[in-house]
Amino acid sequence: MDAAARARIEARLRAQRDALRAEGDLEIAAEIDTARKVDDDAAPLAEMAKVIASNRNRARAEELAQIEAALLRIADDPEDFGICEQCEEPIPTRRLELMPWVRLCIACQEGREADKPGARRHLTDYRS
Ligand SMILES: [Zn+2]
Repeated sequence: MDAAARARIEARLRAQRDALRAEGDLEIAAEIDTARKVDDDAAPLAEMAKVIASNRNRARAEELAQIEAALLRIADDPEDFGICEQCEEPIPTRRLELMPWVRLCIACQEGREADKPGARRHLTDYRS
């Protein structure tokens, strides 16, 4: 990967990290209390809001961790960034621009997912 593409991806990672940090966790408890005061019919909605909020918070924490790990990899070893950790082929820049935290090329990623017991194949991944 050339330095310009890497700089572009790094800038994107920083922007995403800052956005995620600024967003913060959703307040799960506050939403439930508000719903309880209304009436019992709101309880299932509050329960649903709680599940959505906790899923969202977990996804956000995972995304943030992946982004921070990618930024560390760029800082530690810029030349190796964008190289598939399994087959050591360059990951297409287009894939990295969409998902800068990926560590594997599409072929290796799909190979790993297929190895997992009960894993379903997803074709939502970007192909270049
Ligand atoms: Zn690979």
